[in-house]
Formats: sequence, C-alpha cells, structure tokens
Amino acid sequence: MPIRQLSETMINQIAAGEVIERPASVVKELVENALDAGASRIEVVTAGGGLNLIRVTDDGSGIAERELGLAIARHCTSKLSDNIHDIRSLGFRGEALPSIGSVARLSIRSRTASGDSAAEIGIEGGRVSAVKPAAANRGTTVEVRDLFFATPARLKFMKGERAESSATSDVVKRIAIAFPAVRFTLAGPDRSTLELPATNDTPEGRLARVAQVMGKDFPDNAIAIDAMRDGVHLAGHVSIPSYTRANALQQYAYVNGRPVRDKLIAGAIRGAFADVLPRDRHAVTVLFLSLDPSTVDVNVHPAKADVRFRDPGLVRGLIVGAIREALAGAGIRAATTGAAGMMAAFRPGAAPYSHPGPANGHRSYEAAYRASGSSGFDRGSDLAHSPQRPLDMGYGEARPRANGFAENEQAAFDTGPLASADARAGMAEPAEALLGMALGAARAQVHENYIVAQTRDSLVIVDQHAAHERLVYEALKNALHSRAVPSQMLLLPEIVDLPEEDAERLAMHSEMLAKFGLGLERFGPGAVAVRETPSMLGETNVQQLVRDLADEIADNDTIETLKERLDRIAATMACHGSVRSGRLLKAEEMNALLRQMEATPGSGTCNHGRPTYIELKLADIERLFGRR
Ligand code: ADP
Ligand code: MG
Repeated sequence: MPIRQLSETMINQIAAGEVIERPASVVKELVENALDAGASRIEVVTAGGGLNLIRVTDDGSGIAERELGLAIARHCTSKLSDNIHDIRSLGFRGEALPSIGSVARLSIRSRTASGDSAAEIGIEGGRVSAVKPAAANRGTTVEVRDLFFATPARLKFMKGERAESSATSDVVKRIAIAFPAVRFTLAGPDRSTLELPATNDTPEGRLARVAQVMGKDFPDNAIAIDAMRDGVHLAGHVSIPSYTRANALQQYAYVNGRPVRDKLIAGAIRGAFADVLPRDRHAVTVLFLSLDPSTVDVNVHPAKADVRFRDPGLVRGLIVGAIREALAGAGIRAATTGAAGMMAAFRPGAAPYSHPGPANGHRSYEAAYRASGSSGFDRGSDLAHSPQRPLDMGYGEARPRANGFAENEQAAFDTGPLASADARAGMAEPAEALLGMALGAARAQVHENYIVAQTRDSLVIVDQHAAHERLVYEALKNALHSRAVPSQMLLLPEIVDLPEEDAERLAMHSEMLAKFGLGLERFGPGAVAVRETPSMLGETNVQQLVRDLADEIADNDTIETLKERLDRIAATMACHGSVRSGRLLKAEEMNALLRQMEATPGSGTCNHGRPTYIELKLADIERLFGRR
C-alpha cells in the first residue's frame, strides 16, 4: 500500500483512542472545559452509563458564534499562548472536542456574555453540520450521544452501565475537590443524584467540599497538612492511622489544581505511612501541590493525569516529611478519638458492648469504635475480621518468654529488685510532679496489660504491649538512621546483570547505598557486583533487591525504598520482640514506660495505627455518673 495522508476523521479517531477511553473520560474533558471557561455552576447529566447520553451545562464564558467551528477543529485551543512550559489551564491540547466528535454525535450550544443570542454546531462521526441559531442562557451546553457508535470495537470494551456511571461519579468527585467554589450536580436515570453546593476557596471551604464528597467522617479523622519547601507548597489532609481503607482509591492528589494519578505521590504517601500502617492498609488523603508551572510537565499523556516533576526528590521529600511531622503529633488524636468512642460505649443504651472474651482483649475497643458512629469506613471492626490482625499476638493467651533481643530493650525499664511494700507505697501517694506529666502517675496495672495512670484532670489507660512495641520500634529505627547499618559480607560477590542505565544509576548512588549496608560496585558494562548486604535483611534475594532499587532510583531518584524496607524490618522485629504484656510491672517500671512514651514522638499509636493509650477526662467520667 502506498503511503498516504490519513483523513481528518481518522486522525481524530486515533487521538480519541487515547483521550476518550470511556464515558468518564468524556465527562472529564467536558467538565475541564467548563472550569477553564470560569463556570461557577456545572451540571452533568448521563443516561445509559454515559454511552447513550452525556450532557454538560455550564455558566462560563461561552464560545462566540464565529468560533464554534474552530472549537471542534483539531489543534485549536484558546488556552495556550506560545509557551508549552507555562500551562495554567486544565486543557491545552485542543483535541478533546474533535476527538469526541469523531466517535460520537456531539452538539455544542453556547452563548457569550456579549452575544445577543446563542448558536449551535453539531458533529457526528467526524461530519460537521452548519452553525445555526439557538436559544440558551449565557454559557455552554455540550451534548454527546451514542458514544463510540463510530468505533464499534471500542464500544465492546465498555463495562456495563453501572460500572461506567460509577466511573463518571468518581471523575466528577475527584475534580470537584479541587474547585470548592463551583457548584456541581450529577444526575440522570442511571444514577442517584449527586449535589455539591458551592463552598469557597479557603482552607475551611476546601475541607467542607472534601466532606461533601467523602463524608464528614473523613474531616473528623484527618490531620491538616501545610508545608513549604523550595517554592513547592503542599496543603491538604491525611487520615489518622486508625482510619484506613483496603485500597488506595481514596487518595486524591492535585498538582496546581489538576487531579493526577502519580506514582511518585502515591509512593511518597506509602513511605510516610509505612511506620504506622500495616502493608495492606491505605491512608485516605487529599493533597494539593502548588508549584511553578514551569517546574512540572503535564504534557506527558493525552489524558493529562500524569505529571513529571523537574525535581522529584524535592516533591517526595516534602510529602514524606510533612506527613510524618503531622503524624508525629497525631498520636494524641488517636487517643482522644478512642476515648470519645469509649465514653459513647459506656453510656447506657449505647451500642452492644459484647463480652470481652479472654482471647479477644481489644473487643471493647472495637465496640467503642462502632459505637462512636463510624459509618462506611472500616477500622476497628475490619481489623477484627482481617485474617492478618497484625497485633493479635494472643491477648490473654500464653505469651512467648523474653528472648535475648527483647530482654535488652526491656532492660531500659527495669528498675532493679524492689520490695513489694515499697511498690504499693509508691502507688498510694503519687508524686505531685508526676501528676503534672502528660500521661500522669501510674496507679495500677490491670489484666496484666493495662496501666492505669492518673493526671490532675484525667484517667489514662495504657496498653503496655502496644506502647512497648512502639518504643522498641522507635529505638531500633534511631539506631538504624543515626549510624551506619551493620552489613554482612557475601561469601562470593553476587553479580547482577542490568540494563546499562540501571547499573550506572546504582553505581552513582553506591555511597548512599553503603550507608544502608548494601555494598556494590560496577562490574563491567551492564552489571554490578554486590559484596555486602544489610544484616537485618538476613538471607535476601540480592538480585531482586538490586533490581527494585534500580527501578526505585529511576522512578524517584531517591533510595527511599531500602530505607522503608529497613523500617519495616524494624517494625517486624519490634512486633516479635515485645513481650511486655502479661508481665507484672512495678510502679517504677510503669512510670518509666509512661515517661519514655512522653519523650517519644509517635508513641501515641502502635505500629499498626491503634492507639497505645486512652485518656478519659475526669469531667467526662463525672458526667457518666451524673455528677455534672
Ligand atoms: P482544549 O480544552 O485543550 O483547548 P478542547 O477540544 O477541549 O481543547 O476545546 C477547544 C476549545 O473550545 C477550547 O480551547 C475553548 O476555547 C472552547 N471550549 C470548549 N468547551 C468550552 C466551554 N464549556 N466553555 C467555553 N469554551 C469552551
Ligand atoms: Mg479541553
């Protein structure tokens, strides 16, 4: 076949293959256009999951009659001047409307502020109809019928009405979070109506919009993030560690107001939470990154959901640092949420408070959480049913005896032999100074695992096992990050064959890797020789480790993975090394534990995100007994 130029319609259909994947992509493009036009109200209607009908109406600037033809012509846009590096609008490629018009029946009716009347243009499977007068208010209505009628192959890939209409809801919600001052409605015979009244573009307004979209459970269980580094601003909210989901779908990220699905951001969130969440749980996050448009490339893929940062290390560092810092102060929050739930559970007539059987020590805590009114989110109850309940090391059952490692860690709390009479005396008369500390003075140990302490105005209950586990973990991590990690020599160096770029990248980072106990060097073209591995990893698959590291460096230009991996090892060891529950403690030991908790950031939650202590205000207790 001779070479020939493709027809305009063919070119548009090829573009549509990338831009218009399913009905939700059409909705995304049309809503973005409405937002770029400065709309304050956007109404979306769908039928048949969007395959029969999608109609988006806005009150934005409108399109002048004489420009209607251009709007549906390929490579025509009003948004790009001549600098591809300075993109401030959601659209810029000038290909959404012609792409849609090449695979569906599209009509655009529009009126500008200065126009005396509206006009309309149509395009069906690439065939354009003449512009004709129409009746409409200021703004634009774009109607798309029979999506993919012109490309039946694509139509076959659609998932069914329900899946498509829910994908559309997701798109609208995702984008609505970034535009709180715009009112959105999404309706149609194929769905229940979603209405998002306008709030405003203040931190409160943004949070109110988030609550409209995600339910008000989230703000109740979220911590604010606000950090700035080298001209990059990060704002938003992340869930506290006791509030998680089974997948990462509830992680919303925006770059300069554009919803993105970015590996680097997702990885940074995972890294930031690695300390406080089991691997199969995911935080809920809404994060807004703002940075100079010239330092981020959004022209990566036609769907515009991918971005490339000029300085990925900076962005990752900012996200990880800001979230970790916020989490460090959030232990207290977990404790207060727990306390609120507990008070609710205690109240007469509250949710069933099932018998806390001997093998189910934290049942009461779960009952408390359920009673606190948590709705669709799965925290306490979910943990109970998860096969992996990471901390379920057999509360109330026989516990492993202290082994060498744990013994060392626990020595820190030992205060030597003590006459039991002294211990009792210590309990009877708590020192005034101790009462003023955040976790107060220990008064008793009950059920061999709970320390009951007293401050001036509250009662504190500490789960000694969970608390100790956290302290061991923090101690291990400190050792890990403050000096070089111990490594073990391999008997024979292991040669790992890699693409040359990967080998080069690893060699460039060899000094850094050595700090983590991984000793490697170049071994001719396309290979590295590994001589030492971190002892903590034990028998490890060196080939896999090195390849993962190469990928990680290529993706993020950081070596966070190894660090996180080591952190996780530390967490596992801490989990197995903590045998404090079931052990009777002396008053001094209990107080030492409390003081150490106060001094350790992040000790308010255990490694799995559950609180390590609960504080009940005296005032609340008095209220329970009808004294107030
Ligand atoms: P892009 O958004 O990348 O510019 P589109 O094909 O989506 O490309 O739209 C082409 C042009 O049509 C836009 O640049 C804009 O000028 C105009 N347009 C599209 N939708 C609207 C709308 N809802 N309101 C006003 N103008 C619009
Ligand atoms: Mg567009």
